Amino acid sequence: MKDSELLTSVSKTSTDSEFFSPIPPGYKPGKTKYLFVMGTVMSGLGKGIFSSCLAKLMQDKGLKVAPIKLEGYLNIDSGTLNPFRHGEVFVLDDGMECDMDLGTYERMLDQDLSRANFCTSGQIFNDVLNKERRGDYLGRDVQMIPHVTGEVKLRLRNLAMKTNADVVFVEIGGTVGDLENAYFIEAMRELAYEEGPNSACFVALTYILEPQTLGEQKSKAAQLGIKQLMQLGVQPDIIACRATSPVTETVRQKISVYSNVPFERVISLHDSASIYTIPAMLRDKGLDFEVARLLKIEDRLNLRHERKSWAQWCDFTDKIDAAQKLVTIAITGKYTSVRDSYASIINSLEHAGIALGAKVNIKWIETTNLTDANVSTHLADVDGVIVPGGFGTRGAEGKICCVKHSRENNLPYLGICFGFQMAVIEFARNVCGLTCADSTEIEPSCKEPVIDYLPEQLKIEGLGGNMRLGGFDIELKPDTLAWQLFAKARSVRMRFRHRYEVAPRYIDSLEKGGLVFSGKAPNQPIMQILELPGHPYFVGTQAHPCLTSRPLRPQPMFVGLVAAAMQKRYPKNDSPDCVTAVRNLCS
Ligand code: GLN
Repeated sequence: MKDSELLTSVSKTSTDSEFFSPIPPGYKPGKTKYLFVMGTVMSGLGKGIFSSCLAKLMQDKGLKVAPIKLEGYLNIDSGTLNPFRHGEVFVLDDGMECDMDLGTYERMLDQDLSRANFCTSGQIFNDVLNKERRGDYLGRDVQMIPHVTGEVKLRLRNLAMKTNADVVFVEIGGTVGDLENAYFIEAMRELAYEEGPNSACFVALTYILEPQTLGEQKSKAAQLGIKQLMQLGVQPDIIACRATSPVTETVRQKISVYSNVPFERVISLHDSASIYTIPAMLRDKGLDFEVARLLKIEDRLNLRHERKSWAQWCDFTDKIDAAQKLVTIAITGKYTSVRDSYASIINSLEHAGIALGAKVNIKWIETTNLTDANVSTHLADVDGVIVPGGFGTRGAEGKICCVKHSRENNLPYLGICFGFQMAVIEFARNVCGLTCADSTEIEPSCKEPVIDYLPEQLKIEGLGGNMRLGGFDIELKPDTLAWQLFAKARSVRMRFRHRYEVAPRYIDSLEKGGLVFSGKAPNQPIMQILELPGHPYFVGTQAHPCLTSRPLRPQPMFVGLVAAAMQKRYPKNDSPDCVTAVRNLCS
């Protein structure tokens, strides 16, 4: 059989042939190319960052790119994962709860992704088992190879079809050698063979150790990691060496010798102060054209498009170092020891800061022991406060103390989801006189449940994938701060992930007390944005605005917060007020 006939023949399941590889109808082999990114030596190398930066460079050249992350774990999505262990749960517009790397892709590519861009072993096995029950495998014993690997390939080809991508960027979570990832790598090997020469490019990320006692870089762990990949039948095309400092020529030569990878394709990917300068690092090494050559897509590149996009990107990265004015924003939360839990918020502050010429310093505040008596010492040196999303009771009273302090002392405040709910509770207790106000999440039998279950949540059992999830429109109230921040739009779309809401029967009392609900769900009484007139910046939202901030399009609620913080820190200076700051950036 000729290679070109392989793809059509393997799509049929039968007991007569060992070939099995489901192909979506209408799939054209060769149209979409695949770039696989894998890690060796250790996890946490920044595979997602590398892959998204490379994808960005190809996108700049006018190519259509589609990223996908393959996760070895058996969870169907990331919704039930503890952010303390796995980093934040990122929510896509279609409601998919996924790994934080999808946030990196969305930010770097300025592209909204969907559930087709995220795949776990749980999803793969679920689909395979459902197909088995339906009888789709026609008498075959269902095996890891070819059925489970076939399902993985089907996912990738479906994504290629759905997005009409020139290049699908496939990032495999974890490390080569993990038992749970082995079948993903096998699927990649099969896919590359089936698609034919120049259809796939394998990139191995590795780590170069530099023990302090030796004071020199050592390549052995990297060599062993690459060897392990080659034992699985995969010959890498490119090796990116992560390290703290630039990787020496000698080390790169050694790796080249042991891996059959040409020296110029063994690159140093040492630590960089900002992830936003990594595209330039890869571009300087010529990796973008190297990939185009390996995939034989040079004729698809649009270099005029690239000139424009790259100039815009460089304007942005130039501002990173130019940002001088220092402001400090406090972020309260119980996952304070792991910054990954708040990755999107940190990124959003960075985007807003860069746009406004400010360096945003973050002060992490553990709220478990905060009280009205000691809160002012903790917040004495900060210019703004964020109470981010959260679940459960721990530290909630401390967060309410932070809200009270911010409200009473004209300290800029942004409440995100749980932080929005805490602001409502604080206002109800201390302004509206509802002293027993609380959330039923914190105190199920409280006398004044100002924050209570969303009605649809009452019927739900279990915890997986059933919050109010994904993108929803928010109707803005004219002549409010929120309306101004969003350029006087009638509505704005943001992403949500919550079970509780402002209980509709309290809305009247809260508004009478002076709280303004400036954003609401279009057809339901769900309050989505609040603000306090007369305060320099007191804003809360039931949504997660941090999920949609992009480097070149900072999210207005964060720009507003940072601008208000700058005005507080530099009152005599010419820092614009929050609305003007947002308007200046958007015009
Ligand atoms: N725990 C709150 C709720 O379920 C807030 C959720 C969040 O902050 N993401 O409504």
